[in-house]
Amino acid sequence: MNRSHVIRLNVTPEQDTYFRKACGVRRHAFNWALARWKEARSKGERVTMRGLRTEYNQIKGEQFPWVYETTKCAPEQAFADLGQAFANYWRMKREGAQPKLKRPRKDGEEAGFPRFKSKKKDRLRFYLANDKFSVDGHTLHVPKLGDVNMTEELRFQGKIMSATISSRAGWWFVSIAVEVKHEIPTHKGGSVGIDLGIKTLATLSNGEKFENQKHYRRNLARIQGLSKGLSRKVEGSQNWWKNAKKLAKAHYRVACQRQDLLHKMSTKVARAYALIGLEDLNVKGMLANHCLAQAVSDASFFEVKRQLLYKSEQYGGSVQLVDRWFPSSKTCHACGWVKEDLTLADRVWGCEQCGTVHDRDWNAAIMVEIEALRKVPDVAAVASSERTIACGAERSGPALGETVCCEAGTKVL
Ligand SMILES: [Zn+2]
Repeated sequence: MNRSHVIRLNVTPEQDTYFRKACGVRRHAFNWALARWKEARSKGERVTMRGLRTEYNQIKGEQFPWVYETTKCAPEQAFADLGQAFANYWRMKREGAQPKLKRPRKDGEEAGFPRFKSKKKDRLRFYLANDKFSVDGHTLHVPKLGDVNMTEELRFQGKIMSATISSRAGWWFVSIAVEVKHEIPTHKGGSVGIDLGIKTLATLSNGEKFENQKHYRRNLARIQGLSKGLSRKVEGSQNWWKNAKKLAKAHYRVACQRQDLLHKMSTKVARAYALIGLEDLNVKGMLANHCLAQAVSDASFFEVKRQLLYKSEQYGGSVQLVDRWFPSSKTCHACGWVKEDLTLADRVWGCEQCGTVHDRDWNAAIMVEIEALRKVPDVAAVASSERTIACGAERSGPALGETVCCEAGTKVL
């Protein structure tokens, strides 16, 4: 399995310049190739990415001699990226999945068609093939540049596949992809259901809750102030760039706080449970709802799902996605009665058939677990040997009769 480790770099001013040049070369090659493609289209010719790359390599010495100042991976990857961008565009067109445009594009192209990369908007980034760099302790060796200091050592052992160097909020990072030889262990945990929400980020079927810390919300005032400052400055001026950098740092801070919380949660859950039931939420649909959008993106449900998927694989467990139409919130987990008129405002509700009083999120999490166990009967066998299967009365109280996980991965009976 491939794993990536993102490491911050301590760069000297010369190294900063080199990285910026390499990113510039990538952007230039991408834009050159797109312009050539459009030119060929207007003449009715057909060109391939391979053909464009050959043409670029023939003329670069004469027309763009500065590309030799950086690694040759920088322009090469641009052609692969453009090829991918075209592949995505044609796939969307074929499937009729092109995004809707609010107004026609200035360049007159259809939605999803590759765009020229702008100096202001493009994220600074370039690629290094695995034979073009090496890692030794805290040192990253880059061709025509030398040794760059990494703030951490590479965490994974294995064959190094590639690296991407990118800039974010004024820092440079390297993301190193490593093919890790990893024997997937047999997971000894039981099962769990997770209910994701805005009030509580995640509620587990064992009653554990992870608070939604609403990082973006808490930092909103500063971000809004900086955004306003940016919009009042002349685009591209010195002060504009200074302000843009501050804004990027503020956003980066929020992203780090959020990632920290999510990683701690997903690691804890993936270590402790062999089968994780998770509702397959329609995040895109929820983001389209303007009232919900900020809260939903702040809780980052999609990232929770992504982390749980790869971490449970690493620990030998599995994630069972539960259909988004499954009525997890309004079905009583004790007797199966469905409260049809449950609204979003009802945090606590009583079952009219068996009289159990439910915490909305907790009940949903238990229902998700039951549904996941129904879908994966063989894991159910493993899980049920470890615990009494979810059924009613003994689970509805706060005292949990089954396994309690204290430290991640350690089971206390
Ligand atoms: Zn009931």
